[in-house]
Amino acid sequence: MQHILQREQPVLREIARSILTEEIGTAKLDKIIADMETALGEQKDGIAIAAPQIGENLRLFVVSGSLLKKADKNYRGEGGYLVFINPEILKKSREKSDVEEGCLSVRWLYGKVKRSIRVTLRALNEKGEKVERGASGLLAQIFQHEVDHLNGILFTDKADELWEMSEEEIRELQGK
Ligand code: ZN
Repeated sequence: MQHILQREQPVLREIARSILTEEIGTAKLDKIIADMETALGEQKDGIAIAAPQIGENLRLFVVSGSLLKKADKNYRGEGGYLVFINPEILKKSREKSDVEEGCLSVRWLYGKVKRSIRVTLRALNEKGEKVERGASGLLAQIFQHEVDHLNGILFTDKADELWEMSEEEIRELQGK
């Protein structure tokens, strides 16, 4: 099991550092990305994860395209894992909506957060190629949540309303 750090860990509150071009494609960085994918794969309700959540203070997050497809019928993008290195939000719609949010590092709280309904993100992929993509719906929410992680922000800092999942709901989610 890949350990996911919980919210009292200081690394989750730091500003993560940018990844250098020469680090991209190295065995060390590829191993970190693989560990993040493993961690995500082990969580039934996790669609994305940021490097600080496994203790790496780096500007990097991974999204599971396949889980995103299941969770958002309007998502038309690719499956598999999408890797975003040194992501930057270039544009955010002024229009926002209240969305429900949880976090693999804030078990088992959920809350309502105001997020822009559309964003444009620029990043590098795992091969070091520039990617720029617009997103709406759940992916837009994920982009904002994950970039927040890289700036030491957790959704609980922004939520208007928070509630705890019951033990029964947790068991159901874990399929036990
Ligand atoms: Zn999170």
